[in-house]
Amino acid sequence: MTRTTGRTVDGIVPPDPLPEAADPTVACARCDSTEVYLTSENAAVCAHCGTVLEVELTEIHPG
Ligand SMILES: [Zn+2]
Repeated sequence: MTRTTGRTVDGIVPPDPLPEAADPTVACARCDSTEVYLTSENAAVCAHCGTVLEVELTEIHPG
């Protein structure tokens, strides 16, 4: 699950080829594309529309 940060990246350069889909597969909150990849700064960026996404991990194990 992702949500937009309100930021976009211009001139993004997705890895080529794109890495395996994020684990678990996440979709862009803006355009629903699954071409989401992680940057070296651990930010998720949609390769389709360039939106910087915040990935909300739902697998939280308390304790
Ligand atoms: Zn997108």
